[in-house]
Amino acid sequence: MPPDDPEPEHRCAHCKYLGAEGFHDAAPEVRGPTCRRHAPVATGGMMSASRTMWPVVDRHDWCGDFEHRF
Ligand code: SF4
Repeated sequence: MPPDDPEPEHRCAHCKYLGAEGFHDAAPEVRGPTCRRHAPVATGGMMSASRTMWPVVDRHDWCGDFEHRF
């Protein structure tokens, strides 16, 4: 099976790291669940306020860190 087409049960929707709803920093209209696999990422800098955020994912996304919820 090609890597871009994982088994349906191995997508973010079934991963234990799927977190609460968030939004994309550069495009706030892009919303979706967040991935809590790693610590939040620092954004911003000299020209904008700094903040931290978790990556926004789609329930149909996947990655190699997937783990079943139970
Ligand atoms: S990006 Fe990976 S670790 Fe995060 S929720 Fe999706 S499958 Fe899980």
